[in-house]
Amino acid sequence: MEGYQHVLLAADFQDDSARVGERAHDLAQRYEAQLSLLHVVENMPVEPGNELMIPPTANVEQEMLANAERRLRQLGERLGVPDAHREVRVGQTKREIIEHAQECGADLVVVGSHSRHGLALLLGSTANALLHGAPCDVLAVRL
Ligand code: AMP
Repeated sequence: MEGYQHVLLAADFQDDSARVGERAHDLAQRYEAQLSLLHVVENMPVEPGNELMIPPTANVEQEMLANAERRLRQLGERLGVPDAHREVRVGQTKREIIEHAQECGADLVVVGSHSRHGLALLLGSTANALLHGAPCDVLAVRL
């Protein structure tokens, strides 16, 4: 069986996410695979009537993006992932991870088993959605 060639780490920068990054990095090294990093800046929260709960200003969005870029750059430097393989996308987390995995040709996506969206659950909603929708293998690192 052929090993993995392109490992995609979906990073949320939560306190316990270092282990997820280490696991992705370790697997990429073992398989001599490319490691890519993705962080998704979620769309602004909206109420059912499509009213924005927080009025978006260009500044808020720019700050969120700049912050995400900065944290991804730090993670990339720590894990030895060059700029060309770091991506920040805006949108719905699950959808963006699946789309990016398709676009970059990842054959393994690594995520944490849960964090913000599902502390009480064995599998959080992101890991669960990826198991159903990802175009490739998914590793949910137990947190
Ligand atoms: P959650 O669905 O919030 O329980 O998160 C589970 C895992 O999904 C995290 O450990 C991350 O690997 C990934 N994840 C969650 N939110 C994001 C995000 N905004 N960008 C990239 N990956 C994420």
